[in-house]
Amino acid sequence: MKFSWPGAARAACAVTFDVDAESAILAVDKRYASRASTMSHQAYGPKVGVPRLLGVLERAGVRSTFFVPGFTARRYPDTVRAIVAAGHEVGWHNDLHEPPYSLSAEEERSIIERGAEVLEPLTGVRPRGYRAPWWELNERTPELLAAAGFAYDSSLMDDDIPYRLATDAGTLIELPVHWSLDDWEQYAFLPEPDIGSQIELPSKVLELWTGELDAMRDEGCLLVITMHPFLSGRPSRAKMLGEFLARVRERGDTWQATMGEIADHAEATLAADDVRRIDLPRL
Ligand code: ZN
Repeated sequence: MKFSWPGAARAACAVTFDVDAESAILAVDKRYASRASTMSHQAYGPKVGVPRLLGVLERAGVRSTFFVPGFTARRYPDTVRAIVAAGHEVGWHNDLHEPPYSLSAEEERSIIERGAEVLEPLTGVRPRGYRAPWWELNERTPELLAAAGFAYDSSLMDDDIPYRLATDAGTLIELPVHWSLDDWEQYAFLPEPDIGSQIELPSKVLELWTGELDAMRDEGCLLVITMHPFLSGRPSRAKMLGEFLARVRERGDTWQATMGEIADHAEATLAADDVRRIDLPRL
């Protein structure tokens, strides 16, 4: 096996949610704030999607990680409190879903440091996890995260097991993701702005993710599912999540945990000198 999981587990699975709400649209263009129907499509996430998905997780006995932008936390503080009260972890997802490549180093540092200021009053703990909007990490982002006290990031795609990223401000655990395990590519549809034009069957997504689950069990990988409550909070999609979680449990050999728990396990398991750095092509 490529990685040593706790006990008899062959693989690990984390179900994660990015609670973008309106922020992912407003980061494209703030003028969408005046469009009531477009905003309502996004508000469905914290208003309806999160409570429904919390019920699915509770019935499955699974704890999860929710990455929350500051805008969502200020606009829907009770949603964040409900996530915490149900026993889940809350991580940082920038303030207004800003893509890091659009930010100067100082702007990015300020937004990363704001994570604890915004989330800790709601959750009672400093956020330990970060996910870049659109999974668009900058080369400098890991160092900014380590300097601000974050323990892990979940935005890169160059492996399918946890690894340790070295930075000049300390190390960070990376928990890799992939577009095929994200609900956005399956379900996102809006005429404007163009966030996607797919409305796939939940049964297709269940088949896609189950195939990856079983292959990852063979290979000893980390399966990170990423969902957005404004998309996967719809009834048939939330129901599919319940069926997927039942399949994970039925396999009997896959550790279901929060991202923070998986990061802690990686921190304790990986040798201190087993480090990587972001290695970009130099042209
Ligand atoms: Zn997002």
